[in-house]
Amino acid sequence: MALKLYILDDDEQYATLLAEVASNIGWEVTAEQNPITFLQDDILQGSVLVLDLNMPEMDGIEVIRALAKRKINLLLILVSGFDSRVLHSAQQLAEAHRFKVLASLTKPMSIQEFATTLTNIKPQSEQIQQPALTKNSVSALELEQAIHQHQLVLYYQPQINMKTGDLHGVEALVRWQSPEDGIIYPDQFIGLAEQSGLIEPLTEEVIRLAVEQSRHWQAEAININVSINVSAENITSLSLPEQLKELTDKHAIDPKKITLEITENAVMGDLTSSLDVLNRLRMKGFALSIDDFGTGYSSLTHLYKMPFTELKIDQSFIMQMLEDSEAMVIVKICIMLGQMLGMKLVAEGVETQEIWNELQTLGCDIAQGYLIAKPMHDDALIQWINKNKQSVIKNEYS
Ligand code: C2E
Ligand code: CA
Ligand code: CA
Repeated sequence: MALKLYILDDDEQYATLLAEVASNIGWEVTAEQNPITFLQDDILQGSVLVLDLNMPEMDGIEVIRALAKRKINLLLILVSGFDSRVLHSAQQLAEAHRFKVLASLTKPMSIQEFATTLTNIKPQSEQIQQPALTKNSVSALELEQAIHQHQLVLYYQPQINMKTGDLHGVEALVRWQSPEDGIIYPDQFIGLAEQSGLIEPLTEEVIRLAVEQSRHWQAEAININVSINVSAENITSLSLPEQLKELTDKHAIDPKKITLEITENAVMGDLTSSLDVLNRLRMKGFALSIDDFGTGYSSLTHLYKMPFTELKIDQSFIMQMLEDSEAMVIVKICIMLGQMLGMKLVAEGVETQEIWNELQTLGCDIAQGYLIAKPMHDDALIQWINKNKQSVIKNEYS
């Protein structure tokens, strides 16, 4: 997988210059002047970040802390106009957060020096370290308030029909928009919600947001499927099918347009009550997807008995399928299995054209991943749809 290079420097001319140098050596570059916007983007793990330490809105040190908090692991090239002592202490801070610092460069630096640093970077796999540690974890009380104060927002990641190139739908992914800490990612609070009894109100809020958004899209003639993640605890709540049906009725949404994604391990927990809930959801017309497939321990018999309509192959296999023959075997088996059981096949984590091509040859139905788009908020999604109307329909990716 190609490494990406981010440049974060408030000096626009300087950032453009660095970006030009880097893209000439073959880097895929994103240059950004504003740290706040940069941190709001979905940042590709394991990439390289050229970070200016002195920026007006938020300095480089704060950026390092924010990245560590969000467990985003980047390789850093620190740049500063200050003396080398500042650079040195910034480097120590970064390393304390378990980031790898590739170089510390003082401004003005020579283009040659910058280019040499970039050329010497080894492939990602040799450099990747443990993810940075989270410093302040969130508390159940904070999360509870966040849910009630409607601080949860949904980002939407497109899913493309690989046969036609059309937009099939989106997966709704929750983020916590904290007034103090900015965007907090689900990995930091879903586990907590599941352990502290907050997953019910959280999922209710997510479902409400997704269904309301669906109605909004429907009004704009955007007729797409919405996939919603639900946890193990949600599918043991026997009233989920009725609650969901009531909501879709209220907003005049066809249940067929809603897919519930449940991880493979979640459904294997309490089989009797999950079967009850899953069957009733199906009978009401909702689609059901088995998420992270391949990572869990479901048996074939269980899979056969469960009313799933879709099988979502875990991204770890998709990402490695071209380099790792075992991953490839698993992907092939999943596709075969899905086809035999009459399920739609979704590949998640499609990051390259080569992987898209291979999946298409193997007969996969739907693709989702950074090759197509990152998760984005609803306004950005509308823009994305308008911009990609032609190309999506013409199956540009195939
Ligand atoms: P998931 O359901 O497996 O979601 C897919 C994750 O993969 C998302 O991370 C998405 O941003 C990321 N992703 C998608 N395409 C690519 C790609 O091409 N490359 C890479 N490297 N990553 C990709 P996100 O949004 O951080 O979500 C993490 C997990 O949090 C989700 O994993 C899901 O299990 C959970 N989650 C998210 N929203 C909800 C929710 O509303 N309720 C519940 N219960 N869980 C949720
Ligand atoms: Ca999912
Ligand atoms: Ca998944």
